[in-house]
Amino acid sequence: MKKIRYNSTRGNEKNVESSYAIVKGLANDGGLFVPDQIPTLNKTFEELKDLSYQEIACYVLGEFLTDFTEEEIKHCVYSAYDHKFDNSDIAPIVKKKDYYYLELFHGSTIAFKDMALSILPYLMTTAAKKQGITNEIAILTATSGDTGKAALAGFGDVEGTKIIVFYPKNGVSKIQERQMTTSKGKNTLVVGIDGNFDDAQNGVKAIFNDQEFNQKLNKVGVQLSSANSINIGRLLPQVVYYVYAYSRLVKEGEIQDGEQINVVVPTGNFGNILAAYYAKEMGLPMNKLICASNDNKVLYDFFETGTYDRRRDFVLTMSPSMDILISSNLERLIYTIAGEDASVVNELMDRLQTEGQYTITEDMKAKLDAFYPAFATEAMTQEAIKDEFEDINYMLDPHTAVAKVAFDKYINETKDTRKTVIVSTASPYKFTKSTLMALDNRYENIDDFELLHELNTVSKVDIPEAVKDIEKRPVLHSTVCEKGGMADLVLDFLKK
Ligand SMILES: *Cc1c(COP(=O)(O)O)cnc(C)c1O
Repeated sequence: MKKIRYNSTRGNEKNVESSYAIVKGLANDGGLFVPDQIPTLNKTFEELKDLSYQEIACYVLGEFLTDFTEEEIKHCVYSAYDHKFDNSDIAPIVKKKDYYYLELFHGSTIAFKDMALSILPYLMTTAAKKQGITNEIAILTATSGDTGKAALAGFGDVEGTKIIVFYPKNGVSKIQERQMTTSKGKNTLVVGIDGNFDDAQNGVKAIFNDQEFNQKLNKVGVQLSSANSINIGRLLPQVVYYVYAYSRLVKEGEIQDGEQINVVVPTGNFGNILAAYYAKEMGLPMNKLICASNDNKVLYDFFETGTYDRRRDFVLTMSPSMDILISSNLERLIYTIAGEDASVVNELMDRLQTEGQYTITEDMKAKLDAFYPAFATEAMTQEAIKDEFEDINYMLDPHTAVAKVAFDKYINETKDTRKTVIVSTASPYKFTKSTLMALDNRYENIDDFELLHELNTVSKVDIPEAVKDIEKRPVLHSTVCEKGGMADLVLDFLKK
């Protein structure tokens, strides 16, 4: 088997093993680690179609993580994808009319971040061992809601790790806050900060960059790492469900082995859709990767014009996990279409930093053919939720609804008859208010917890374990701190 090595998109760290890249997170030069080649799918779907999610995960991850042994990969995969998921398919594919929803929200926090964050802790502790690291790994994260809880659920009680999450005290939904503050794990710390998400993020970055502070941590046997989606250990597990989805379509006779499909991905930081692109590069028969944005349509404009321009107002939408103006993972795609020339990446990322925008060459733009961009306004998103519910009795969360809008636009415009998979990234139970409000304004003044029951009545879908009786669970974390107090709290917690 070919050994896959990893290079930084900025060119200064080269030829490292995947275990190094996973523990490291971000490269020393500020770049993102990318595989030096994309492995090829060397099995037919006749062979793959009867495999379980876990078996396909072992196969796909084994192709990328060539410094891990088969046993190590098995350990990671089977520790991650177990009863934490409330569906034995892990990522079930649901046929609706002539298209399919790939439901990625059956994990412990009912959003797609669970797909990667349930395995990352095992990949990371295994990788640390392989690298001879004896320090405890402490994950430090700032969250605007979803990532925090998924990371807490993933790292909670995982031996050799600690996890600290900072969230803006008044900047997350009540359900999101309660999900985090009721986290069990003895190795977890959840802190609300007096400030907004940017303050939390900046505080965390400052801690990562403080050399003296990091030396202090080293003395007590701890080192920091990141569970952010720039970590290659979060990206690769996402390739798995595209291969899995295709295998199910073949198994169920919906497509022939080799037949092309499209996928629609509600996109923010560009991690999920980049995983789809890697699957396509592996040889998975895919036609278009439809990149769905909300009103923060910086990616739509980029694919249309070749110019990435973050100089615009940040819009708060009902699909908050896609409210993003700098899609970090796009850097990996830029590296690919620049012919893996790190100097081009450096120049463009510098420009983004200093001018807030950059433009790619015509040659580079020509390599973006696989992507089809579309976006949904708030009104279109609401309409999609309502229509889909009235039409097929299926409740979409706002992120998935954005994807549905993009799908409709694509089909109307191209008349493509290929089978299409719409990636469903969150349960409507995570966004009860905006989901129900799309149906009827009368939910406006009803409490978030109450709405869980309303949604149950309306949708007839059981309330997922993740949020059932959440208002009654004991709050285990009540620490609040000032912006300036973050480092002290971190040190106190990690010294224990
Ligand atoms: C994070 C997230 C997204 C965006 O995914 P990216 O990989 O950042 O593009 C979409 N939907 C939901 C529900 C999410 O949590």
